[in-house]
Amino acid sequence: MRIICNFADMNTALIYLDNAATTPVDPSVLEAMNQHHEVFGNPSSVHVQGRKARVLVEQARRTVAKIMQVAPAEVFFTSGGTEANNAILWGCALNLGYTHFITSMLEHPAVLKPLQYLRQFAGIQVHFVNTDTLGHIDPEHLEKLLKEHPGALVSLMHANNETGNLLPVNTVSHLCKKYQAAFHSDTVQTIGKYSMDLPHLGFDFAVASAHKFCGPKGVGFMAVPTGKFFKPFIAGGGQERNMRAGTENVPAIIGLAKALEIAHVRMAEDQVHIRSLKSACIRLLRERIQGVGFNGDVHGSSLHTILNVSLPLNMDADLLLPNLDMAGICVSSGSACASGSNKASHVLSAMEVDPSRPSVRISFGRQNTLAEVETLVDVLARHATPL
Ligand code: PLP
Repeated sequence: MRIICNFADMNTALIYLDNAATTPVDPSVLEAMNQHHEVFGNPSSVHVQGRKARVLVEQARRTVAKIMQVAPAEVFFTSGGTEANNAILWGCALNLGYTHFITSMLEHPAVLKPLQYLRQFAGIQVHFVNTDTLGHIDPEHLEKLLKEHPGALVSLMHANNETGNLLPVNTVSHLCKKYQAAFHSDTVQTIGKYSMDLPHLGFDFAVASAHKFCGPKGVGFMAVPTGKFFKPFIAGGGQERNMRAGTENVPAIIGLAKALEIAHVRMAEDQVHIRSLKSACIRLLRERIQGVGFNGDVHGSSLHTILNVSLPLNMDADLLLPNLDMAGICVSSGSACASGSNKASHVLSAMEVDPSRPSVRISFGRQNTLAEVETLVDVLARHATPL
């Protein structure tokens, strides 16, 4: 009989290290959203309440546009990253005439699933760029695919949500330009973490989700350049200049803009703090757990907020997360977006990670402390050496 060990005596305070799944809402964001609740008008109404709400939405759009270095007219609010990715991919296939899509097996389901449907129902062709065991794309193979299909749509994520691996953006955007391809990137994990001058980086289409940078859930945006607008994925009224129907979620949009502003003001400080937590975690895990490994290019091009740990074989994968949960520690196995399923991660499988070794994704946020990382490593080390 397997017994779930109770580590609850070690530390009862909640330790949240699952910031790639979602982040706590910043108190100043909540305050900004609450302040505007009395402006309840529909931004499409022409009367005073409607006009007040419209002003707030357009202010938020200008804030986002300035930070992303695009025109306000190129920012469209959505319900989040999933919708934004879907809208762009469907729009590119159905309205902009793209027939060849180049992507990788390491993408988030919010990209892989729409591509699967587009292949099935719209007859597009999907080509997968080779990736290596560290989780990097092969630029030479990308160039070969682009040579065969110039003018394709390339969809490659900026940072992988499971491993934190970063895309060589300059290389990809250079290749896209060389072969007249359009470049869509799922930037959900990086917007709010890095300065993002979208045109300078070479992204044609980018997406964001507010709840990944201490904003509210259920709101995001897509950046779409003038000249590449498409018909709305969500059809109905003429909101968002005919790019996304549905009454705008005004408080959430205000919260998104506030959260993005805060993330940019604090960016340098947050990067230093979070990087130090990730380095400490790697060092402590190596010191305390024999045979520990890391999935992805942990010492190379990697997002500071994400660490994917491969634990030794003697650790029971099924009990690991429940035990951590009982100890008040929130982390993820692989990707939390698969609704907590125990299915093997498609990302780790594509990277040929040994499926018998349990993996956990630890993802850090600005609110985390070194003491929390030490407690996590303590619990993992206890679990690695059963009594
Ligand atoms: N893309 C990536 C890389 C993600 O990590 C996520 C969420 O985890 C999404 C898309 C989906 O975003 P949303 O939760 O806003 O729909």
